[in-house]
Order: sequence, then C-alpha cells, then structure tokens
Amino acid sequence: MGQNRSGRIVMLGAPGVGKGTQAKRLHVEFDWVHISTGDMLREAVSRGTELGKQAQAFMEKGDLVPDDVIVGLVAERLNGQDCKEGFILDGFPRTVYQAEQLDRVLDDLNMPLDSVISVEVPDEEIIDRLSRRWVCEKCGQMVSCSENEASSGCSQCGGNLIRRKDDQPETIKYRLQVYQERTQALIGYYEKKGLLLKVDGTGSMDDVYDKVRIAVKDNQA
Ligand code: AMP
Repeated sequence: MGQNRSGRIVMLGAPGVGKGTQAKRLHVEFDWVHISTGDMLREAVSRGTELGKQAQAFMEKGDLVPDDVIVGLVAERLNGQDCKEGFILDGFPRTVYQAEQLDRVLDDLNMPLDSVISVEVPDEEIIDRLSRRWVCEKCGQMVSCSENEASSGCSQCGGNLIRRKDDQPETIKYRLQVYQERTQALIGYYEKKGLLLKVDGTGSMDDVYDKVRIAVKDNQA
C-alpha cells in the first residue's frame, strides 16, 4: 500500500480497547487526519467554550453527549480540505443515529467510508487497563501503572499523575454499559454494509497495530 492511498476509516470499540492509540499510529504512518471526538470535547471543556460547558457533565458521568451536538462538530471537521486525503474517526459514531448522519454527511461530500475496524477486547481486560490509566497533570504523558506506582509521579517531569474523571472505577463500568446499550449495534450496522473488519485488540500495541494495518491493507488491495 503506497503512502499516498486515501483511507476513510472508522475505529469502533469499547472505551479502553486502545482504538485511540491505533488511530494515532495510522495517522502517523499514512497522514490521514485523526478525528477523536473525545479529544475534541476534552479540549472544549478545558478551554471553557460553549460546547465544553454543554458536554462536561455528560462526560464526567460517562454518558454520551447529545447526538446533534457531536454530529455538527464532526460534520464541520470532515468538511476540512485536509480530510480529502483520508481520515480516521475515533470514538464516532457511537449511536445508530450518529452513523446514519455520518453516512449522510459523507454522501454529500462524495467520500464514502472504506472500512470500519472493530477492536475487540474482553470486558475484564478493559476494566483492568482503564483502572491502570493515568495522565500527567503537567506534561500530559499517558502512563499505565498501579495506583501505588502512580503516587510517585510522572517519570518525565515529576508532575502529579491523575485519573481522567471518567476513568474512576464506577464510571468505567457505566461506560461499558453505555457502549453495550448504544454503540454495539453499530457492529451489525456496518457488517450489513460489508465494511466491518474485526481485529483482536489483546496483546501488545505493536501486535495489534500489525493486525490493524493488515486489515486496512487487505481492504484496499
Ligand atoms: P472517549 O475519549 O472517546 O472515550 O470519549 C470521552 C467522552 O466524550 C465519552 O464518554 C462521551 O461522554 C463523550 N463522547 C466522545 N465521543 C462521543 C460521541 N461520538 N457521542 C457522544 N459522546 C461522545
């Protein structure tokens, strides 16, 4: 697969399956735009924008932000000239309504999806991974470690390691429930369209990326 192939990809999967990490790697390798709705919303919250104010309470509880808010945000981003070369949607769509709206937006842009990669990890492993996920308050580095290890601070800058509000143990279970109730139906939705590629998300990040790459490559061959 040449570096100049376009790719229009959705990364699907429960919170904590590592789809963000894999999306970033595809972005680095192929230069497709990485669109993470979670990152866009977190930035809006930290900047205190109107969108951030609307989204914050939903996010902290682990609930989904209302569909229309998020569809508008993604539609605007997909209209960007840079998305013509390819994009990776990470964390969107999360409901059937969002998927239908995405189809409509991409139809209008004449940019149909190439593939939907569903990264699959058992719930117990997700709970374990998310409860070990820490982020440095100061430099933003993501670290995977126990609560005890986290108390010694960031290895890069010494800053405090904190948990995302929605990575608290009770909220993790709720987010998985929200995924099952609202997002899992997308697997069938994209399977019917012949776009779904399932990837086993257990194992090292490198192993999973190899599988993601192969899935993307086979689909473009
Ligand atoms: P993430 O980083 O993808 O796990 O997203 C963090 C939070 O942002 C989610 O728990 C939701 O509250 C919100 N969010 C992100 N993407 C969406 C979406 N497509 N639809 C609704 N809410 C979203």
